Amino acid sequence: MQGFNTRLVHVPIESEDETGSVTVPIYKATTFRYPKIGAPVKYDYSRSGNPTRHAVEEQLANLEGGAAAFLFGSGMAAIHAALAIFKAGDHIIVGDQIYGGTFRILHQFFEDWGLELTAVDTRDLSAVEGAIQANTKAIYFEPVTNPLLQVTPVKGIAEVAQKHGLLTIVDNTFLSPYLLNPLKYGADIVVHSATKYLSGHSDVSAGAVIVKGQDLAKRVYFVQNAIGGVLSPEDSNELGRGIKTLAIRLDRQQENVLKLVDFFKKLPGIAKVYYPGDPDLAGYAELKQEAAGAGGVFSCELDDQVYDPVVFVNSLEIFALAVSLGAVESLVELPSKMSHAELSPKEQLAAGIKPGLIRFSVGIEDASDLLSDIKQALVKAKLAR
Ligand SMILES: *Cc1c(COP(=O)(O)O)cnc(C)c1O
Repeated sequence: MQGFNTRLVHVPIESEDETGSVTVPIYKATTFRYPKIGAPVKYDYSRSGNPTRHAVEEQLANLEGGAAAFLFGSGMAAIHAALAIFKAGDHIIVGDQIYGGTFRILHQFFEDWGLELTAVDTRDLSAVEGAIQANTKAIYFEPVTNPLLQVTPVKGIAEVAQKHGLLTIVDNTFLSPYLLNPLKYGADIVVHSATKYLSGHSDVSAGAVIVKGQDLAKRVYFVQNAIGGVLSPEDSNELGRGIKTLAIRLDRQQENVLKLVDFFKKLPGIAKVYYPGDPDLAGYAELKQEAAGAGGVFSCELDDQVYDPVVFVNSLEIFALAVSLGAVESLVELPSKMSHAELSPKEQLAAGIKPGLIRFSVGIEDASDLLSDIKQALVKAKLAR
């Protein structure tokens, strides 16, 4: 097989012979002609299959090492499709630190639908195994969680799942196929918010499901075609373009993160830094077992006796104060007041989210400019004693 970087750029579809175009055209057609009744056709209707979308689906299947991939209009639509293969009465074990939107769809949609759920800390394999019931069908988790970047290796979970005949479903948004291929470690289904690292430029909302085998491909394709939350040809094109620079973006992002983490680690008034890509920090040994890096997100906790976290994030100039992550520009957010604001103060503390916790999504800018920005904001945020 070709190297990852070659596969990023060269889409595994037949070339466009008419014109010699080196990129896949944006096929706007919603319907495709049959030569005659009964003749086999590759595409007949765009919800069921579109050549532009299909090219990117093939590429993602290839990059994740899966049998097939399916693209949707958002990460949540993709996660819905992956979970809609189950039926009322099925039980699913879920990580207790999953993305807020996933928590919401599980508890405010799928539970009404009849799915039963048990949340566990997936780092604790005996807790995972202990949660298995007669009707358990799957384990769903994120190998690196948000915003505390807790690490759960895929292999341990997949071994428990296989022993009990369950599916392993992994949300690989934070690491992307450049840094982790969950299917290689025994997962059956991978989901992505392709809005994040895969597209990489904060201008496409998209989601992906990648499956290991043909049987699962049939089940997910049924949902994609029947529910119809497909990615548009235009957005498929932009996503496909973003994917080509995934590796070089993440290389720079990780380089930048390590410099910022190093700065915060040594700074008095910082209670804690969370980044499993740093050998001194929690999760490093677990991450190293499977992943080639920890990605471009890190968090740190300002000691709120020393710094005012609200003034700090408000004072940053290069880092945009915004949720989301994974793009070329740097973003910062305050989980207690933004991404995790729905949790009560007590629930936030139970989840380890203190008022001083700051989450950074680091872009591809010059590290020196990012550091200067952080330093000037820290000066403004420093509390008088
Ligand atoms: C953003 C995100 C999602 C949801 O994706 P959307 O594209 O916003 O619908 C799911 N999982 C994780 C880990 C995310 O960061």
